[in-house]
Amino acid sequence: MSRSAHPAGPRHADVLPEGHYSAPPADLNALDPKVWAQTVSRTQDGVVSVGGLDVKALAEEFGTPAYFIDEADFRARARAWRTAFGHDADVFYAGKAFLSRAVVQWLHEEGLNLDVCSGGELATALSAGMPADRIAYHGNNKSTDEIRTAVEAGVGRIVLDSFQEIARVAHIAQELGTRQRVQIRVTVGVEAHTHEFIATAHEDQKFGIPLAGGQAAEAVRRALQLDGLELVGIHSHIGSQIFDTSGFEVAAHRVVGLLKEIRDEHGVELPEIDLGGGLGIAYTSDDDPREPHEIAKALTEIVNRECEGAKLRAPRISVEPGRAIVGPTAFTLYEVGTIKPLAGLRTYVSVDGGMSDNIRTALYDAEYSVALVSRTSDAEPMLVRVVGKHCESGDIVVRDAFLPADLAPGDLIAVPATGAYCRSMASNYNHALRPPVVAVHEGRARVIVRRETEEDLLRLDVG
Ligand SMILES: *Cc1c(COP(=O)(O)O)cnc(C)c1O
Repeated sequence: MSRSAHPAGPRHADVLPEGHYSAPPADLNALDPKVWAQTVSRTQDGVVSVGGLDVKALAEEFGTPAYFIDEADFRARARAWRTAFGHDADVFYAGKAFLSRAVVQWLHEEGLNLDVCSGGELATALSAGMPADRIAYHGNNKSTDEIRTAVEAGVGRIVLDSFQEIARVAHIAQELGTRQRVQIRVTVGVEAHTHEFIATAHEDQKFGIPLAGGQAAEAVRRALQLDGLELVGIHSHIGSQIFDTSGFEVAAHRVVGLLKEIRDEHGVELPEIDLGGGLGIAYTSDDDPREPHEIAKALTEIVNRECEGAKLRAPRISVEPGRAIVGPTAFTLYEVGTIKPLAGLRTYVSVDGGMSDNIRTALYDAEYSVALVSRTSDAEPMLVRVVGKHCESGDIVVRDAFLPADLAPGDLIAVPATGAYCRSMASNYNHALRPPVVAVHEGRARVIVRRETEEDLLRLDVG
């Protein structure tokens, strides 16, 4: 596999001189199991396979670009999170990472719950048979229609995000003659990302109600007064692609502080604490995420310790991993179209997709790996930038990586760890047809989201 090469960016400015790239990997044909789905390997003839099917045959049958998701790996990761947290905690898969009806069924079968954040995600979940009481509904501006649909369906929790929403949900629940179970999302002033967290972050964001200035305490006061609401807990989500639990430690400390305040003021011990998602995965060989059981142990210890200190009964913990479950289970398969060596700079490799199927590189400067998967090669490594076919110079899939110098049009290359936030953020830019998602399992491939067609595009365009 070709390891992503890091240009000296802000993350490395302290250690590497400008323009320095990490050395090419020793073996361009190797596939690092950290970044590839569990059943991915090279067959005898050098072609990469997943779930027992080789990518040349898959490309022939389903076309490129396409996402291939390793169902066994998805189930294994979902189960690992579930068992790591045991029966005293709940795992909610964050549907926004990638949601389809097949995924909902896998989650249901593996005993996970589901987070949704829109009417569309809720409809997908319900249509695939996820029991409503195992669904939590998030979002900073749920419409009254969305709220009504969720309450009527009987969702397990609505996570309240503003003072207006507290009133709105209470009103709708009362109108419908029910009491809705809710959590209040608070912003604890912790912002975590990858290896760092900021414990004094400004609560300057659209999500949640700040702990600061007693705002969260006021939200709790109101929610406890309203007949339409059953307040069951406090929710906090501190960031994304987080590799260690120290940010959660500060967040839990502050949330437990609020639980204690609530107990002292209202005589109520709220039974639930939700620590959100944001657990990181390996996009390149340089990333070292922790295992679910390590995270579960650390988070449970943190919450229990904080509650002991505050003399509170330990609440039921929930977590909401999205990326950490689906991210590593899929790769995007592309065909190489053109190769443009720019002397003294780098070689541009154009593929048949781009920012329409993976916006994360353009949007977040995300790093990815890439490998030649339709054959092996003994050629020298060449520094490449993998780009898409869109009319936009920022249309980059992998900013810096090494591929073999004999790469040619028609070769298949694959970008691993594209299970999260790629298909779910895909667009029709340039009237691109969004790629299919194909689930591969024990020698069988099944389309779970089909490729868009020109008829799909034209159907929306009513002239
Ligand atoms: C996005 C989000 C998640 C999932 O984040 P991941 O990084 O995919 O784990 C969980 N909870 C909330 C509230 C979110 O907004």
